[in-house]
Amino acid sequence: MSRRDDFLKELTEAFGPPGLEDDVATILRRRVEGFCEVSRDNLGSLIATKRGTSDAPRIMVAGHMDEVAWMVTDIEPAGYLRVRPLGGWWPHVMLGQRVKLRTRKGEYLGVIGSKPPHELKDEERKKVLDWDNIFIDLGVAEGFDVVEATGVRRGDFLVPHAPYESLANENLKVVKAWDNRVGCALSVGLLEELREQEHPNTVFGVATVQEEIGLRGAATSAATVKPDIAIAVDVGLGRDIPGFSGADRNPERLGGGATLLLLEGRWVSHPRLVRFVADVAEEEGIPHHFSTMDRGATDANRFAISGEGIPSMAICVPSRYIHSHSSVIDHRDYEAALKLLVAVVTRLDQATVARLRG
Ligand SMILES: [Zn+2]
Repeated sequence: MSRRDDFLKELTEAFGPPGLEDDVATILRRRVEGFCEVSRDNLGSLIATKRGTSDAPRIMVAGHMDEVAWMVTDIEPAGYLRVRPLGGWWPHVMLGQRVKLRTRKGEYLGVIGSKPPHELKDEERKKVLDWDNIFIDLGVAEGFDVVEATGVRRGDFLVPHAPYESLANENLKVVKAWDNRVGCALSVGLLEELREQEHPNTVFGVATVQEEIGLRGAATSAATVKPDIAIAVDVGLGRDIPGFSGADRNPERLGGGATLLLLEGRWVSHPRLVRFVADVAEEEGIPHHFSTMDRGATDANRFAISGEGIPSMAICVPSRYIHSHSSVIDHRDYEAALKLLVAVVTRLDQATVARLRG
């Protein structure tokens, strides 16, 4: 594995449910501490400041550290755990999967229980399980006291357990939590690239908390940084799979390059900023394409309405199967997004930002 793979493996496999992103923050901090000022806001978002040739404009580029996860809400007498989702889960993708529980005593492997098909009634087969019928098994058996062995308590967190691997096509990497450790890697990767380059501004590489449960770190980090321009880096939704074809003849796809997100639900990205970024990509010959999202939102949504308003957009890496144990990206799209961020940020001087703000 390359050094970049090692970093992405460490980052994606790290434990980081919404509200407990410290392990991810520590990994990121280590990368930038030597050449950036690093701080965290009161909710925990990491802010790394890299000064260029000017204090202004202030450019913020942010990925979120948290991943979709679960919280323990009850422990049955036999030792099975009941949980509630943190972020959007479709229970279909959960059953039979492995999870990692963290308690005051350590980390423990568990499995999400499921009935064998032999036991399913016809109406059960057609339904998605509700949360009251989902449970975690940490190894319940005669003579094993789950609470005593693991120290599990209500309020403890669980995340998916899924290692970083290549698919048959080695450009494609599969692991949990590309959403959004890929954004964290890009935000830090941009700062690393800027060590070698002059930039006419001050750049804030940010890693936000609690995106999956309501863009909460986006609100506090933008209020702390007060940027002039904010770019969220996140995963896009690869639509190049069966079931999506037809409506869009140029869908967001793996290998298509960086994604410029035009529309999130009913929110538009800042049109002049999107046009500027697209022009830079064209000029530099960086692979890119456009996408829209019918539901959901990125941190860019919240950045846009922070303070007096901040021109904001999201630059994404197309991804398949997010919010599951097996999200997939193409590392070439990651490289394209990184190149684009560097090209954009090194052009954002006072005059350009004034023009964009209008
Ligand atoms: Zn997500």
